[in-house]
Amino acid sequence: MTAAPTAADPLTLELDGVSVSYRGVPAVRDLHLTVRPGERLVLTGPSGCGKSTVLRAIAGLLPAAAGTIRADGDPVRSTSRDRAMVFQEDALLPWRTVRSNVLLALGLRGVPRSQRPAQADRWLDEVGLTAYARHLPRELSGGMRQRVQLARGLAGAPRAVLADEPFGALDAQTRATMQSLLLRTLDAHPATVVFVTHDVDEALLLGHRVAVMGRRGESLRELIEVPDSDGPARAAVRAAILAALTDH
Ligand code: ADP
Repeated sequence: MTAAPTAADPLTLELDGVSVSYRGVPAVRDLHLTVRPGERLVLTGPSGCGKSTVLRAIAGLLPAAAGTIRADGDPVRSTSRDRAMVFQEDALLPWRTVRSNVLLALGLRGVPRSQRPAQADRWLDEVGLTAYARHLPRELSGGMRQRVQLARGLAGAPRAVLADEPFGALDAQTRATMQSLLLRTLDAHPATVVFVTHDVDEALLLGHRVAVMGRRGESLRELIEVPDSDGPARAAVRAAILAALTDH
């Protein structure tokens, strides 16, 4: 017998013939995609193909013009603390300390007030920022601010994490550190992840599957399973993703 899902279990996300338009002009057309519970699905494709649009629609920030988005079978009609859009640089409040930014996220996710301080401290510890808890965001480097975003995004244990090119602006070394921190944190706090990136190597590192979108208004071009280990199979998948990205 399987256990009934609890509030913290990763979500199943289903997009069933989803189209999203801006002022009547489709940006995404007839998208069919199921993200399994606990899966990390990477969404990639040329600039302007609709990656952010898909993410915002899953978050409940944009309505689907056609089709249905479901989270564990329930149609998505608005935002929910189960589905967190995370890692937006401008989401940190500049006048609040690092700790207070994390506390605020816990409040928004509905964590009881009495539990927030201990949880904030635990998240700051997980991302290695305990010593900077009382600092303001502007006193931190870009990489450190990104770690606060990670703590903020994952605090309160959302069941789905929606990330829009979170590491795009970081230098290569900070980016690699953040990628492994994200994977470690997700191991400890499983969630279903939809992660947007332009970077094929990041897609291979983070994704269980990679969805390659076509140009604006086209539907999905490829949905590719990423092999677990490095080797010829992964090199072949890398080549397939690159081919799908460049095949216009
Ligand atoms: P991507 O994330 O793949 O770069 P977006 O989802 O941001 O693509 O955008 C998809 C298309 O929709 C683009 O052509 C973009 O110009 C257009 N678009 C995005 N946001 C808006 C908006 N708020 N109003 C009108 N058009 C938009």
